[in-house]
Amino acid sequence: MLEDAGRVRLVDVPDPVIEQPGDALVRVSLAAVCGSDLWPFRGQEAFTPGDRMGHEWIGVVEEVGADVTRIRPRDLVLAPFAFSDGSCRQCRDGLFTSCPNGGFWGGRHDGGQAEAVRVPFADGTLVPVRTDADAELLRRLLPLTDVMATGAHAAVLADVRPGSAVVVLGDGAVGLCAALAARRARAGRIFLVGRHPERSDLARRMGATDILAADDPATIGFIQDETKGGVRSVAECAGTQSALDLATELVRPGGIIGSVGVPNGVDRVDLYRLFRHNIALRAGVTPARRYLEPLLAETLAGQLDASPVVSAEMSLEDVATAYRAMDTRQAIKIAIRP
Ligand SMILES: [Zn+2]
Repeated sequence: MLEDAGRVRLVDVPDPVIEQPGDALVRVSLAAVCGSDLWPFRGQEAFTPGDRMGHEWIGVVEEVGADVTRIRPRDLVLAPFAFSDGSCRQCRDGLFTSCPNGGFWGGRHDGGQAEAVRVPFADGTLVPVRTDADAELLRRLLPLTDVMATGAHAAVLADVRPGSAVVVLGDGAVGLCAALAARRARAGRIFLVGRHPERSDLARRMGATDILAADDPATIGFIQDETKGGVRSVAECAGTQSALDLATELVRPGGIIGSVGVPNGVDRVDLYRLFRHNIALRAGVTPARRYLEPLLAETLAGQLDASPVVSAEMSLEDVATAYRAMDTRQAIKIAIRP
């Protein structure tokens, strides 16, 4: 739980129990600390002391409520970072994150950085893996629950096409996953613009063809020269004003900015440039549940491996250390083993 800004603590709480007939109880196999967990941790986002933490996790079902039919005990399941009923209009449209009955892990709900989680709407929320998983497969599956689903959404929003050039802004876990998603969509050049030059080998493994520094004044000119005036697709994965400004400069007339970075201090959009050149800005939180089945199938087939973004693994007892390592950027993403 988050005790106070900068203080995450492991505490004993009563085991969750089935409360509603649609619930499942899931024992967590592997969880992760997300970059967005750091905002309340840093006091940059409102929280209530005692909030539970963790929205990236996978686990094994222990028990299901009377109405649960699709999910069975002993299933290894992926949990998208938001739960949803699976039956309302938004869920039927694939917009699971706008489900009026849904919510996010953590806070007053159970969090994934724990031993067990009560899952509401288990049939609508969880995706069964239905195969045995060793530690390596668990590490490949874990990023699908959030960062890889977000990277995939960036490529979809930006309408990445085979052979086309793509700019990815941000070299955090989401940006790296967006590069992987762009490669999966068979993009040609993938320019990854970030702030961590030490991640360039990793970025190349994830599909980036060109690694550029966000603070290098030559970056914009280089991309514009190489692409003869900008790219059709920009995946904005940082959520900052400077990233949005850069996206607006690097997108060519008629192009699309797909923005999946959670807006953080963004207060202006150059709407005139978008208007003048018919540039689309499509922004949105990923409805992760929509992407889990295809990403799972590709992962099980050995065609997709997002595990390189998991840079370390720690035990639940060391969760406070994991937050500090993420906060000081010694690690991209730390997996937590209960
Ligand atoms: Zn719904």
